[in-house]
Amino acid sequence: MSRMRDFQEKDLKYIWHPCSQMKDYETFLPIVIKRGEGVFLEDINGKKYLDAVSSWWVNLFGHSNQRINDALYNQANKLEHVIFSNFSHEPAIALAERIINIAPKGLSKVIFGDNGSSAVEIALKLSFQYHQQIGKIKKTKFVALTGAYHGETIGALSVGGVDLYNKIYKPLLLDVIRPQGPDCFRCPYGRNRNNCNAECFEHMEKTVEEQHEEITAIIIEPMVQAAAGMKIYAVKYLKKLRKLCDEYNINLIADEVAVGFGRTGEMFACNHASISPDIMCVSKGLTAGYLPLSLTIMTDKIYDAFYDEYHTMKAFLHSHSYSGNPLGCAVAVETLKIFEEENIIKKNKIKSKLLKEKIEEMIEDIPCVGEFRQIGMIGAIELVKDQRTKEGFDWRKRVGYQIYKIAVKKGVLLRPLGNIVYFMPPYVINDHEIDFMLQIARDSILEYLG
Ligand SMILES: *Cc1c(COP(=O)(O)O)cnc(C)c1O
Repeated sequence: MSRMRDFQEKDLKYIWHPCSQMKDYETFLPIVIKRGEGVFLEDINGKKYLDAVSSWWVNLFGHSNQRINDALYNQANKLEHVIFSNFSHEPAIALAERIINIAPKGLSKVIFGDNGSSAVEIALKLSFQYHQQIGKIKKTKFVALTGAYHGETIGALSVGGVDLYNKIYKPLLLDVIRPQGPDCFRCPYGRNRNNCNAECFEHMEKTVEEQHEEITAIIIEPMVQAAAGMKIYAVKYLKKLRKLCDEYNINLIADEVAVGFGRTGEMFACNHASISPDIMCVSKGLTAGYLPLSLTIMTDKIYDAFYDEYHTMKAFLHSHSYSGNPLGCAVAVETLKIFEEENIIKKNKIKSKLLKEKIEEMIEDIPCVGEFRQIGMIGAIELVKDQRTKEGFDWRKRVGYQIYKIAVKKGVLLRPLGNIVYFMPPYVINDHEIDFMLQIARDSILEYLG
């Protein structure tokens, strides 16, 4: 038996993979990866795959990046971990200082977690406790948008608005207020992103006007609802939201887990609207795809409500065993150094323009393209059954999944969200690699559509 086959059998014997129906794996066996370099992954048979989704949106500077490898190796030789209560270390301090220096204005204190969901849990708990401690005890509810995605733990799942992930758990979830969010592709006001006046904000406005006394925070994914299908919305929406939150003493939580660190063309997606949230969550790109680490960053206003003598019981007693892990922090510091020293944001502006032009060219004669949308280093094509009515394919056909399987065979790791084929490559992708990625994507879509 081949080594690949051997590994695959053992994998299926012991492992339960994320976000998967394991029965699918019996006909589409797990691909066992041996190494990575730049935008490519290589399996144990030597076959290469271009990682068009940055391994679930985490990788920024390619696989096995030399600078980050060195930072990790050097840190491992000094200190792998230390308890983070009362103790501290240089990588955490350096990371906190760097992140505060680049974060939207007003954000000033950092809490360390170890994944995006935990960053969101921390944000929700912080906001709730903040309002309890300043005497607004009726403020106990969260507002989140339709189509929102904030992670998979019970609190994070509660604010999520994608049925696929949370429907079965409804009896367990928090009672979240959920106004209709933006839907620019199928805009009910007949607008597009260029002439948008954020009329859809009326749903949020009405909700808040009616229920503000109970609302502790509004959580959003700024600029792009990624898991919902790379749904991009307008800057105006964010500006109006910031104003509304100020007016009614509601915390604005920006979940930048997917969109932070340059993915949308700005360091943080909030920067597009020049707004500062009260609490911001980051993870994914924070360690350039190396290690699980997250930060929940907040203003002094939030922090100060917890600051008192111990016996007042105002402290935030949330902790994780791996809080502030030095390896993760060292890698994150190196990531931020690369941004600064290699002018990544500026270079990405040029690269994302190229990506946009090339995708537009590639889809010109593909039938079933409902919309192409792009922001920064995210490009997405929504495939539809009917281009005129924008009616989508029946989800049971699993159009995206079929295209995914074809593309992987041809050497590109796409992983569509439903009927949305998207490109979210590592920032190090070059011209030639973009062409290859798009050529295979095109061939795969056309092969599927037959
Ligand atoms: C991925 C994601 C999360 C959850 O992060 P995990 O590290 O997977 O727990 C939260 N919010 C957004 C916007 C995400 O894209």
